[in-house]
Amino acid sequence: MSEDDHMGESKDSSGVHMVERRGKAKPRNWLSVLFGYASRCRGKMAASFLFSVASVACGFVPFWCVYKVLQLFMDAGFVPTAEAITFWLAIAALAYMGSKVLFGVSTILSHISAYSILASLRHDFIDKLMRASLGTSSAKSVGSVKNVFIDRIEGVEVPLAHMIPELSGSVLLAAGIAVWLFVIDWRIALSCLVTVPVGLLVFASGLATYNKMYAAYMEQSNYVNSVIVEYIEGIEVVKAFNQTSGSYAKYADAVRDFKEFTLGWFKSTWVTMNLTFAILPTTLLGVLPCGLWLFMAGEIAPATLALAIILALAIVAPLMKLSAFLNEAKSMEFAVTDAEEFLSLPELPEVCEDASISSTGIAFCDVRFGYGDDEVIHGISFDVPQGSFCALVGPSGSGKSTLARLLARHWDTDSGDIRIGGVSVKDMPLEQLSSLVSYVAQDNYLFDCTLRENIRMGKPDATDEEVEAAAAAASCDEFIARLTLGLDTPAGAAGRALSGGEKQRISIARAMLKGAPVIVLDEATAFTDPDNEDKIQQSINELARGKTLLVIAHRLSTVSGADNIVVLQDGQVQSQGSHEELLSDSPLYRSMRAAHTGAFEWSQKRRDTEGVTEEKEGCHA
Ligand code: ADP
Repeated sequence: MSEDDHMGESKDSSGVHMVERRGKAKPRNWLSVLFGYASRCRGKMAASFLFSVASVACGFVPFWCVYKVLQLFMDAGFVPTAEAITFWLAIAALAYMGSKVLFGVSTILSHISAYSILASLRHDFIDKLMRASLGTSSAKSVGSVKNVFIDRIEGVEVPLAHMIPELSGSVLLAAGIAVWLFVIDWRIALSCLVTVPVGLLVFASGLATYNKMYAAYMEQSNYVNSVIVEYIEGIEVVKAFNQTSGSYAKYADAVRDFKEFTLGWFKSTWVTMNLTFAILPTTLLGVLPCGLWLFMAGEIAPATLALAIILALAIVAPLMKLSAFLNEAKSMEFAVTDAEEFLSLPELPEVCEDASISSTGIAFCDVRFGYGDDEVIHGISFDVPQGSFCALVGPSGSGKSTLARLLARHWDTDSGDIRIGGVSVKDMPLEQLSSLVSYVAQDNYLFDCTLRENIRMGKPDATDEEVEAAAAAASCDEFIARLTLGLDTPAGAAGRALSGGEKQRISIARAMLKGAPVIVLDEATAFTDPDNEDKIQQSINELARGKTLLVIAHRLSTVSGADNIVVLQDGQVQSQGSHEELLSDSPLYRSMRAAHTGAFEWSQKRRDTEGVTEEKEGCHA
């Protein structure tokens, strides 16, 4: 598929070159989509097809050779010489081997192409996830995205790697044998093919409800996948509430329903499928009586009769393969359609050329936004001058995280604008925006590699010394020293040993290494111990040195030093100013501050009490 399929180019009013990536207006037929994929490896696919044709052509030769040997025995009326027999048998053996070698080359080429295409499709999927708004991609469940990335993509492998060599070979072979039978005698040919329409009719009757059933099967399969992924992701909660896989009703129901559905479907089709596969191979039922009758009537030679019988047997294998492919066509169609649907998700409009920004100050200008139809941000405006520290505070659900995500352009505003250095984030390429803004999220995701590699993600070409310096600046030293492998500890193993605050410090080190001039930090919600809190504060101070910093503060203790604190309530700016100004002017800020201080003291007291209890228990042990 060419890039042009995805993009339309236009110029906006200011003449900036825009590339608007958009979804397809009209869904394309799945076969044309499939051939579109195949065109990514056009040369190899064409060669695979040609080798397949050559293999089929060679496959006819042994039949011809057997016919010639039979002719030698039956028609000449004398015992043929060993040389003559050996000659034809040698040609048959060579042709047979040649046909297998050519078929092997054809499948090697088709598999190389198929897996290259699958790899490029997987890259396209990730590219799509990067370019679609989070709203578009997160509307899909993890289970269904996993289905597309893994199962559906594997489903595309079958048509790409097998359909071209095997299906084209089977069609050509079946057609070639049928033509040959007609050349021998049209009556034999018809008698050979008489059972084929019967078999196909039975097959078609089995397929009558196939489309509907397959759609239901895919729905059930997607659902059970999603439930399984959800169960595994939520295993901590499941265990906490003692919900085993048997007693967790949603999981147990989904697994049972899926089993019942698939078994029911199998039972409803097994008669027609078995009948089809019983009738299709019975070509001899027609050829034998018809051929013998023609032979008795003296219309065909004995060798010709023998050849007709051999060909009638030979047509069975390609016919069976053909029907097996027809049976699988629906799953191929779903695989291709699902992959295409994902690749056609709408993308955020993007400009091509880097914008020239005058500073790294941020301006929120009358921003309005809703995740669906309900607006959650109602005309918010405030500035974060270059190099300043701005804190967003407000009750839960007031819109703090949403504003941060809009700045990082995980979504686009519905109206109004967010500007960096005077340029709207919509008027700069996503890559430029990403190099300008470091977004340190609340749930600090560590990838399944070492802590060192996790930090290095901020700057892939960073040296070990740079990574270590960033880790030290983010106050990671002391807890990394506790790990036997230090920075080279795999994140999976380390993750279990790290607190939320420590994980956030790893993310801060990653952001430091990236060195973006604008930092957006979604603070961890949980209270941490004072030591950890101090360390986080130190690392934030290091991270923010000389940068424009926007902090979503869930814990008010960290914002007293902010240049400007914006208090949000119900998606609107309730007030803004310094800590002292807000303490005197904003009742909401005052009450939040009081609630926070009370909760913090309560949390500390409780921690101290628990510490004592643990100590006591330790003594008893
Ligand atoms: P805060 O960070 O202040 O707690 P949020 O920005 O997370 O608030 O949420 C603002 C509002 O948007 C809330 O009403 C919340 O329920 C809603 N919201 C947040 N994220 C989503 C989402 N992904 N889809 C739909 N609604 C959301």
